[in-house]
Amino acid sequence: MNNATTLSCALAAIACGLLAGLAVAQDRAPAEFREVAPDLYFNFDFDGSNSAVLVTDDGVLVVDTRMHPDDAEDLLDQIRQVTDAPIRYVVVSQHHGDHYMGNSVFKREGATIIAHPDTQAVIEERFEFERTTRPFAARGQDPDEVVLVLPDVLFSSRAKIVLGGRTVELIYLGPGQNEGDTLVYFPHARALHTGGVFHNRSWANTSYAPSLAGWVSVLRTMQTIDADIYLPPHGDLATGTDIENFTAFIDEIDSSMRAAIDDGLSLEQILDTLTFDAYSDWRGYDRRPRNLTAVYELMTQGEANYFVPASRATPAPAN
Ligand SMILES: [Zn+2]
Repeated sequence: MNNATTLSCALAAIACGLLAGLAVAQDRAPAEFREVAPDLYFNFDFDGSNSAVLVTDDGVLVVDTRMHPDDAEDLLDQIRQVTDAPIRYVVVSQHHGDHYMGNSVFKREGATIIAHPDTQAVIEERFEFERTTRPFAARGQDPDEVVLVLPDVLFSSRAKIVLGGRTVELIYLGPGQNEGDTLVYFPHARALHTGGVFHNRSWANTSYAPSLAGWVSVLRTMQTIDADIYLPPHGDLATGTDIENFTAFIDEIDSSMRAAIDDGLSLEQILDTLTFDAYSDWRGYDRRPRNLTAVYELMTQGEANYFVPASRATPAPAN
């Protein structure tokens, strides 16, 4: 790969599925493919997950391949509206299935897939859970078309890719929402794809975070990166103010849950009283009980029980 600094090779597990997908359910708003800076596109899918795309004459770099090969084909169609250049790279920003289960489409197109080692590790652990619990049926999609396509290349903390005269920096600041959360910085556009670290006006799944205080710390460090535009995995394009609001949100969950547990409140009492009304109009507010349950488990048992879903109501897929 061009000018990569701290990359090391990993085995690729490549498999292509049949892509003759079913018609996608029509009750979802279609994704919007927008140019948000020179050569930089944002595929905004409010009801699904977002992607970022760098388009140059020498090739294309895609951040996140969406949830299903059908979704990835839609994204590829959008890319082909603006360029015939080869798909060179895919960066997988996080291990949640709604961000990488379209990998097979871009692998077929010849992309080199890049991720953090922790992202790969959790993908391997969780793939079958993701494939069997995502709401494919409601979207008119066949889970059997989703195949596991692992990264070709791993990076540990920082890596740089130069493509068509543009530089792309991969940055790992530690776990935010997830182990392996990868930030993707486009210096020419002063734009940052935020991996799982930041979701715009959205109740990001807290079932995977090793530490909410650590997540807040990563959010604050992320704000030192020189960017004006933030491309989140969920929610619309964002500004620095949106980052500050989300940081306050995670910090408030952390502090209020700690205080409630210290006061001896039960999980039931916490779910009844910590309603976070200020965030009731954010995307995914219905996930509040599940998210707070995960935080309660993290704070009282050291880990959310997402690896043993039979011990309680099966958690909904991550967002
Ligand atoms: Zn997601």
